[in-house]
Amino acid sequence: MSDKTNLVTSTQAIIHEALEKLGFDDGMYELIKEPLRVLKVRIPIRMDDGSVKVFTGYRAQHNDAVGPTKGGVRFHPDVNEEEVVALSMWMTLKAGIVDLPYGGGKGGIVCDPREMSIEEVERLSRGYVRAISQFVGPSKDIPAPDVFTNSQIMAWMMDEYSMLDAFNSPGFITGKPLVLGGSQGRDRATAMGVVLCLEQAMEKRGMKFEDVRIVIQGFGNAGSFLSKILYDRGAKIVGISDANGALHDPDGLDIDYLLDRRDSFGMVTNLFDDVLSNKELFELDCDVLIPAAIANQITEENADRVKAEIICEAANGPTTKEATQILTENGKLLVPDVLASAGGVTVSYFEWVQNNQGYYWDEEEVNEKLEVKLKKAFNEIYDLHEKRQIDMRLAAYIIGLKRTAEAARYRGWA
Ligand code: GLU
Repeated sequence: MSDKTNLVTSTQAIIHEALEKLGFDDGMYELIKEPLRVLKVRIPIRMDDGSVKVFTGYRAQHNDAVGPTKGGVRFHPDVNEEEVVALSMWMTLKAGIVDLPYGGGKGGIVCDPREMSIEEVERLSRGYVRAISQFVGPSKDIPAPDVFTNSQIMAWMMDEYSMLDAFNSPGFITGKPLVLGGSQGRDRATAMGVVLCLEQAMEKRGMKFEDVRIVIQGFGNAGSFLSKILYDRGAKIVGISDANGALHDPDGLDIDYLLDRRDSFGMVTNLFDDVLSNKELFELDCDVLIPAAIANQITEENADRVKAEIICEAANGPTTKEATQILTENGKLLVPDVLASAGGVTVSYFEWVQNNQGYYWDEEEVNEKLEVKLKKAFNEIYDLHEKRQIDMRLAAYIIGLKRTAEAARYRGWA
């Protein structure tokens, strides 16, 4: 992998710039440039055919100066240490941006749940918790869902941890089913956060939902909820895609029809003959582009051909550092991932607070609190971007790192 697309080195470059702008010296960069801990585990699992397969898993804890580390666990064949490390750093930024008392963490298992039985996925989820149990906990490091993990997997993980702990520990993990201490609104929280940020961005550019044409890459958890919310608000969704390809209709796609036919891994394009590539999707004529799938999708190779006026990053790391610069120079408004996708961890925090206090809120209360946090974060970042004439990503990094860096300095870590 070239240095340019290396998620860790490109994140470190922006961290360095942001800390410099905040007035911190190289000692602070030394501390923050890497996670404090990265755990690699090997998990032997009995498969349905009687054989034993050994899976590799990771958990990275970026920085816990502010509070326990927090972040999802992904199940995907492409999981690797570099990706988990970068994702843990982005979680520190998200927590800082929406002002949560957390540092960043992230986990992953190299596996393909699409090719495993439910029983095998359950054994793997429980095996992962046994392997990392000494390093996580409600006031240490709190996992959550991410790519190809869901509330059922969180329930198995919580159950396994509660057994090991000999205690009912709902605050060990977030994104749980409601009956096990999950929060109202958590399932659609990432999508809601994207919509709230998009609303603010559109206001800045004088745009309205009824008039915009939107393209969404990804039809998984974030992408599917997103397309539904935006469709119901009257926006025209002119393109969507999954891992196989993309669908396009300049008059607007029938999102309800597509959602009905989508499988649990977000696949739908395999049912159609007339399919574009994900590459073509990014160049479609539209007003808003929402990458909601995987990293490194908008690069210096295709950034110049992006027609959308607003790019709102629902996925983690979809736009490279070079592409961010090209889009900004072309006058586009780029709402960075660490801001736009912070809705999930925000409602995870609300879930953890509810677990800790043993008192549960209704959905309206959750949504109101989410809106307050995200609107405030968006406007702080937008104002800094305007005032200092810097791109929105650098502005987001400056705000996202401030609390962790200050806490680390008070603790005497840098
Ligand atoms: N996996 C989500 C993220 O990347 C949510 C993390 C959480 O809820 O802790 O932001």
